[in-house]
Amino acid sequence: MIDFKFNGEILCIGSINMDLVMVMDHLPEPGETVVTDNFNTYPGGKGGNQAVTAAVQGAKVTMFSKLGGDGFSKELLEKMASRGVDTSRILIDREKTAGIAIIRVDSKGQNSISFTPGSNAFLTPGDVLENSDLFVPGRILLLTMEINLETIYHAIRLAGQRGMFVIVDPAPAPSRPFPADIPPLVDVIKPNESEARAITGVEIKNKADAKVAIERLKKMGFKLPVITLGDKGLVACIEDRIVEFPPLSVECIDTTAAGDVFSGTLAASLAQGCSIERSLELANCAGALSTTIAGAQTSIPSPERVRQFMDKRM
Ligand code: ADP
Repeated sequence: MIDFKFNGEILCIGSINMDLVMVMDHLPEPGETVVTDNFNTYPGGKGGNQAVTAAVQGAKVTMFSKLGGDGFSKELLEKMASRGVDTSRILIDREKTAGIAIIRVDSKGQNSISFTPGSNAFLTPGDVLENSDLFVPGRILLLTMEINLETIYHAIRLAGQRGMFVIVDPAPAPSRPFPADIPPLVDVIKPNESEARAITGVEIKNKADAKVAIERLKKMGFKLPVITLGDKGLVACIEDRIVEFPPLSVECIDTTAAGDVFSGTLAASLAQGCSIERSLELANCAGALSTTIAGAQTSIPSPERVRQFMDKRM
């Protein structure tokens, strides 16, 4: 059992990006122009995906991030608000653009991606300090790592002082080890296989390897490690018990943002008073369902669909 009084609220800190996607016959060579009429824009960024997921699953979510003064930033802000996220505390730096990924996909599904983090890279520890009223006891702090690491560590320390419940989705894996004071301040850490390897050094090929990595994360001080294993399910350590959750059989067509949907659902379920076991079950169901629909925020299942899917399995 988790000894924490959740108040239904989540403070989400992370990246918000716009994906510009062109699907074409072949990827252009240097100097070549390839013409296509298949173009779409999709809101993304791990922070944005998780915030929208948690709001769709019924939590009261406040997003803290930084956008720019461009049209993409305006659109991202509006779309996120339209899905129920409180965007009033997102900072705007008019000199910057939003984070943008330019993605080309060829007829064989191969892609080439150019990315600029834009305004995401300019969310500073000072910004966190100036907005410290967002750090309220009873709230969950939900973090991903596509932004400045010092800003992330600052937020975790402040959350620790204020009695918040901290969930870290260490994606992408940090380029250097966590400062020693950080792991004991983190309640749940949820890497996927490659992030778990980067953090612990354990090569994960199966559940037995994942259990070794879980032990290492516990030794580092993380209270409740959860390692997601894609189509192999997940492994968690709850009160010193290793618990396995089997993979759920779905017709997987696109795994984009499966991990984000998992983390957003986990946070929303805990915030609304579900036990850790039930929250992991619901997150497993939501992650699996998200792979049956293409895209990132387009693939977030409704809470009704998640519960129906879960009930059918029981
Ligand atoms: P990430 O997207 O961060 O790499 P994973 O690939 O581990 O994360 O997926 C996160 C979760 O999404 C998994 O634990 C599982 O619940 C679900 N999931 C992902 N891929 C599949 C799949 N092919 N079949 C069923 N569930 C999946």
